[in-house]
Amino acid sequence: MNSSIIKRLTSAGRLDRIFIDGEWLLPAGQARAVVIDPSTEEPIAEIALGSAQDVAVAVAAARRAFATWSVSSARSRASLLDRVHGLVLERAELFAQAMSLEMGAAIGTARSAQVPLAAEHIRAARDIVGSYAFITHREAMAIVREPIGVCGLITPWNWPLYQITAKVAPALAAGCTVVLKPSELSPLSALLFAEVMADAGVPAGVFNLVNGEGSEVGAALSAHPDVDMISITGSTRAGVLVAQAAAPTVKRVAQELGGKSPNLILPDADLARAVPAGVAAGLRNVGQSCSAPTRMIVPRERLPEVERLAQEAVSTLVVGDPRSPQTTHGPVANRAQFNRVQEMIQAGIAEGARLVCGGPGRPQGLERGFYARPTVFSDVQPGMRIAQEEIFGPVLAIIPYDSVDEAVEIANGTVYGLSAHVQGQDLAAARAVAARIRSGQVHINNPAWSPHAPFGGYKRSGNGREYGVEGFQEYLETKAILGYGAQEQA
Ligand code: NAD
Repeated sequence: MNSSIIKRLTSAGRLDRIFIDGEWLLPAGQARAVVIDPSTEEPIAEIALGSAQDVAVAVAAARRAFATWSVSSARSRASLLDRVHGLVLERAELFAQAMSLEMGAAIGTARSAQVPLAAEHIRAARDIVGSYAFITHREAMAIVREPIGVCGLITPWNWPLYQITAKVAPALAAGCTVVLKPSELSPLSALLFAEVMADAGVPAGVFNLVNGEGSEVGAALSAHPDVDMISITGSTRAGVLVAQAAAPTVKRVAQELGGKSPNLILPDADLARAVPAGVAAGLRNVGQSCSAPTRMIVPRERLPEVERLAQEAVSTLVVGDPRSPQTTHGPVANRAQFNRVQEMIQAGIAEGARLVCGGPGRPQGLERGFYARPTVFSDVQPGMRIAQEEIFGPVLAIIPYDSVDEAVEIANGTVYGLSAHVQGQDLAAARAVAARIRSGQVHINNPAWSPHAPFGGYKRSGNGREYGVEGFQEYLETKAILGYGAQEQA
């Protein structure tokens, strides 16, 4: 199954190419990266990496294309997105297999979440542009919303296709042209996405893909004087570097960065529902989600019950070969992540947190591959490293509290503010707590995901919003035309 993706991309001549100005081109340099299957630690493909020279060519193509794309009708942009949406769904199985291969997503998760949620961002952008008022009137002014220009889009490996569509779709819908630099660790799904764009008939230069290292291609895009906006999803470390590189050219920088999201369980919560759902959300995608609620903040007197329920929930997880449909949790995505997860589990033990289940090392019977044991710590103190630092792995910290005020203080007590959960039967009380939490999203009692809910960070989780109409507007500039006169009657 796996090799069929590689064979397909190889025979189509994709692996050694980048996509610029409607053409699959050889990059200027000779640099290559090896793609590793995290379930076997074996190399599975080699891809060509672009350089600053390729970025310059791609940005020039995007600039030329901007002249016409920026003034194309909203309807024609929606219709391109419609075709892209259809092709992503038509090729869903290919995408699911590619992501399972390149970052170890369990095939069931890839099929049920990684691909369909990615497609939803395209559908949402299409719907938004279809009804968006690009011109509004105030007094005798016209307030015009125009595409900001050429956008550099930098994405991570954890939800590879989802992060790409969450940027490309609204940018194109807004009338911007783009240069995408996906993670060098998950390039296969990105190459398939570029095929979709080409097959959907994207005009030359509107969408460009340059694979490459962050320090080379990402840095060149960030610094490029003819790029108007950079949107990066990644670590806080990379987000800071991008902002520094972008500062001299005063471009707009949107950052979706790290998180350490709290799941605040109020005293009246139904634990039998809240705890298993909280464990599932915290360890979803093997904990490799920036918004994963990895700090479960619980009333101290209910700690034993929470621990029992958490342990039970973890015991239902099936860690193993990501290609097996029975598997719920594959390996973590790469060696660096595996080492990081191991280091943080050791740190939790060394700091005196109590292991409820899991621990260091690989699960039994999985000696090869970057498999980690789903791990729950209890009696975690808010100042411990495992309560403060993003781990990006299957590690949950249960933190007890004595009063709701203290719980809110713990929830807000990290440098991050990306997402949060509140659980409780009294909706008014849950809403009051949600209002006190400093983060871009708060979920009360595990509601359904929506591509229309704006997403982004307070504090060091980032700047700007993605998804929904707010995410779309990030790609627009506002122009006030004074003396415009009265609004013409339609
Ligand atoms: P990363 O920061 O290593 O890489 C992210 C992207 O940035 C990659 O494409 C990388 O090549 C690029 N990059 C790295 N250095 C760069 C530089 N100097 N200039 C320009 N680009 C550079 O992150 P990762 O390991 O791929 O992903 C994990 C991180 O992403 C976690 O911290 C996670 O919280 C974060 N994340 C955030 C969100 C969000 O929406 N807030 C979503 C997913 C992941």
